[in-house]
Amino acid sequence: MTPPWIDLVRNSDPLTTLYSTVPPLDAVRLRSIHLNWRGPTLTLRIDLPSFPDNAPADWVESGNDTFQCHLQFLAVNNFRMSAWRPPTLADISISSTHDRKISVSATGEKTVFSFDSSDSIQHSTGTAMKKNEGEYFCRVCGYDFEDVPTWVGIFPQYVICNCCGMESGLEDEDLEKVRNYRAMWVANGAHWQDPKAKPSGWDLLSQIANIPKQWR
Ligand SMILES: [Zn+2]
Repeated sequence: MTPPWIDLVRNSDPLTTLYSTVPPLDAVRLRSIHLNWRGPTLTLRIDLPSFPDNAPADWVESGNDTFQCHLQFLAVNNFRMSAWRPPTLADISISSTHDRKISVSATGEKTVFSFDSSDSIQHSTGTAMKKNEGEYFCRVCGYDFEDVPTWVGIFPQYVICNCCGMESGLEDEDLEKVRNYRAMWVANGAHWQDPKAKPSGWDLLSQIANIPKQWR
């Protein structure tokens, strides 16, 4: 039996107010997974597949087209992951098992994982944003994240740079941090965090030219 996911959300009011029909978790954009040994809990940061039809007027007037939220699962067990390259579109399926437990699995082109948890999901931090609004160049090294924003407005997206390894929101919050991280990275040889992502004929100086002026 597969209950509609919204029936499992403890504090579903904000979502059922925003949506006449809360969309299924098909083709959601998965942005991050956070594991915490307390609980233990697992939190997914996702963009729901559609924008709320009952969105507040100021969200619409600001041109927002994406609704992002956090879903926290409790008493997590049997976590298994075989692929993870966020952000990625994935279908999340939830099925009831026994003893008020659920089995959750996510399957997408760039991610595959599954886990069991208690059948009570906590929803938090619903935020409206524009899908393509944001910063796409690493503030530290100028790496081009292409369609993955490092920041959207004042919200860091906690993405890790394939090149210098910084995580947005942690190592690039202010100019001093950015310059310190860059100096350390260059002093240590400017090694790629993910050597497989390094283009042949890569040139540090031409990449560094991408760094936005205010982060130099
Ligand atoms: Zn970088």
